[in-house]
Parts: sequence; structure tokens; C-alpha cells
Amino acid sequence: MTENSDWIDYDKHHVWHPYSAIGADLPVYPVVSANGVRLKLADGRELIDGMSSWWCAIHGYNHPEMTRAIQHQLETMAHVMFGGLTHQPAAELAKKLIEITPAPLQSVFFADSGSVAVEVAMKMAIQYWHDKHQPDKQRFLTIRKGYHGDTFGAMSLCDPDTGMHHLFSGILQQQLFVEAPSCYFGHPCKGDGAKALRKKLKKHHQHIAAVVLEPIVQGTGGMRFYSAEYLKEVRRLCDQYGVLLILDEIATGFGRTGKLFACEHADVTADIMCVGKSLTGGTMSLAATLTTEEISNTISQGNPGLFMHGPTFMANPLACSAALASLQLLLNSPWQERIKTIEKSLQQGLAPCRELPQVEEVRVLGAIGVVEMKKPVDMRQIQPDFVDAGVWVRPFGKLVYLMPPFIIGEEDLNTLTSAVVRVVEKCPI
Ligand SMILES: *Cc1c(COP(=O)(O)O)cnc(C)c1O
Repeated sequence: MTENSDWIDYDKHHVWHPYSAIGADLPVYPVVSANGVRLKLADGRELIDGMSSWWCAIHGYNHPEMTRAIQHQLETMAHVMFGGLTHQPAAELAKKLIEITPAPLQSVFFADSGSVAVEVAMKMAIQYWHDKHQPDKQRFLTIRKGYHGDTFGAMSLCDPDTGMHHLFSGILQQQLFVEAPSCYFGHPCKGDGAKALRKKLKKHHQHIAAVVLEPIVQGTGGMRFYSAEYLKEVRRLCDQYGVLLILDEIATGFGRTGKLFACEHADVTADIMCVGKSLTGGTMSLAATLTTEEISNTISQGNPGLFMHGPTFMANPLACSAALASLQLLLNSPWQERIKTIEKSLQQGLAPCRELPQVEEVRVLGAIGVVEMKKPVDMRQIQPDFVDAGVWVRPFGKLVYLMPPFIIGEEDLNTLTSAVVRVVEKCPI
């Protein structure tokens, strides 16, 4: 395949893309390199990245310090099995994660993707209650409009409608759902915001292993920002009813919402926490599930006295080294100020969308800017429009949103937001 057009055409007919069809007529753009906040297409065009490759590339692309860390590890040891062996990058990364996550988390399970980290969290909760002699606690309670991944366990926790549960109804675990919180971020929960959750817990707590949710920001399930008071109440109810709290920080972790972890907005801590996505600064696939000492000790001293999971590429040294480099870069940067500056620019830049008849709502939190449309967008139209405007923005459903790399400059951010305004303006009413 000597011409770009050869492999692009091959891809179209033989390679699955996320949530796609083989041979589909939707545009897929060939990218040949990426640097800073710019993606370079095969035809030479450069696009300013508004997506951070799905929350991940917080330092932009091809960051020299990330490349150096990965190269160094590559020359030492690219991979080694984790059963019966260990290595310094894994131990150092575990130490760092335990240091920076909210207090009680004391042990780390390294997984190879976010979905697997969620599966691991669910298995840990079930094994914990098994070893506490409450083997009936095997179900999970969550809120609608959530997203937790695409494997079967994780999928069972996703919003039943957008997650298309009916397709898999014969095999999917039936979890318990309550309505997504209606109280908005920064506002109190009027009346009894968590009433539905309390009712479910009261009735079913003997069968519930854990409440699972995305703290403060519901990502792919709807890009919604909910009140910290709700999360506080969830924590309180979990304690009251003897149910674990699993916080999925895979999208929100590492600064995106303005706090290092979104649960810090509510000052709550998790019994089990999942991180992933930007953990390696968008360079390698790695995720982690952290638990309290109480949970890890109970599982380790229980029956069979082992936690029953162990991926082939567990704690891949390249990925662990990338994560260490990414965390060092992040924590040594003025990330809080950067996020505040991005938040302000998103507020100002997206504000004109509020006046457009196509738009239902504009909301911004941290380095996340969302324009919710009244109708689902037409990807056939809107995707080329964004590319023609010189930006990489990938809407889904009714949501046109930006979550740029933290290193983005004022001017590039303005280009992104004005492109959103212009493209949204052109959408049919
Ligand atoms: C992306 C995401 C996942 C799944 O992570 P993968 O690495 O895609 O498997 C789980 N939970 C949340 C909140 C996510 O945003």
C-alpha cells in the first residue's frame, strides 16, 4: 500500500472504529502525526485538537518529556509478566497514586483499560462481601445517564437506553437504576435530591454490593454536571446502608474538572476508585483500581484469599513509566491556573451559542465545555464542517463539546470556540 489512498480505502472496508460500521459512508480522517495541540492529516492539513483524544492527551501530543520517559523504559524493558515478578515503575506509580488520591485508598490494581478497571472494581466489591459472609450482596446501584465502559460488567452499569441494554438483555446483569441527579453543579439539591437513591437502598441494600457512579461529571452518557451535595448524600447513604461506594474517575481524574479528582468538589472519598484515560497523558493504555486497606485486607485474608483477576499486560512497564512521567509533568505544572483560564475562555467563547435557536443549553466546568443541541447533530455534515474550520471536534448525539489539552494557548482556544459557534449556527433548526 504505497499511496495514502490505498490504506485509507483498506481501513474503510476491513477495520472497525469505535461505535462504527464497516464500509460506512461517514468520513474517517487519516492522521499521520500529532504535535502539541495539532493533529496533522495525510493531506497536510493541521487541526487544532478540541478532544484530547477522549480526555487523555492532557499535555498535548508528542511531548518531549513523555517521549523520553517511554524511550528510556523501552531500552530497559518493554514488558515483563506481573505474576511472580515486579518492577520499579509499577511500585513507584502505585505510591504516587496512593499519595495523590483522596485519603483512604491504599492498594492498587493495574488494569489495561478503563472498562477492565471497572470490571475489577465490581469483582472486588463482590469478593469483599463474600468474605464478609454476605454473599447475597452481588448487585450494583447506579444513576441513569452514566457511562462506565463497554465490557459486559461495565456495560450493565451504563445508561440502559443509550447503552442499548435491550440488545444484550439475555446476558447482561440486571442492575438497579435511579434517575440521574437533577440538581446542577454549584447549586444545592432542593428538597430531597437523593430520595430515589435512598428508597432503592432501603429496599435492596441486602443485595447491593456497591453504588457506582461518575463523580460530579457524567461523561459519555450525557456530559452532565451535577451538584456536590448529591454526591455527599450518596456517600452518607452508602455508609448508612452498609454499601460500598465505587467512584469512576476514569474521565474526571487528573485535573479535568478543576480539582485533581472530581470527588474533591464534594469532599467525599471512595471505597474503590477507578482511574484511566489521562493517566498516561494519552500515550499508552493503562488504568487502575484503588481500594481501601479494609477491602484489600478482607479479600486477601478471605476465601480463596486471592483476588481473582490478572491481565496478561498487567502493569506494563512502558505504560507505568509513561504514567509516572505524565503525573510529574502535571503536578509540576500550574495546572489549576491553566484549567481556570481554559474554563473562562470556554465560558466566554461558547456564550454566543446560548442565543442560537439550535441550542438547548451551554455548560462549562473546568476544562470541559458542552453545547447541548435541541436535536441530534448530523455527523455527515458537522464532522467535515469542523475539519474545514481547522479544528478536531467530535460531537455525539445532541452534544457538541470541547475538552482541549491543558497546554492549549489562548489563541488556539479561541479558534476552537469560534469554530463551534460558527458550525453550530449552520446546523438546521
Ligand atoms: C472511557 C470511560 C470508561 C472506559 O474506559 P476504556 O479505557 O474506554 O475501557 C469507563 N468509565 C468512564 C467514566 C469513562 O469515561
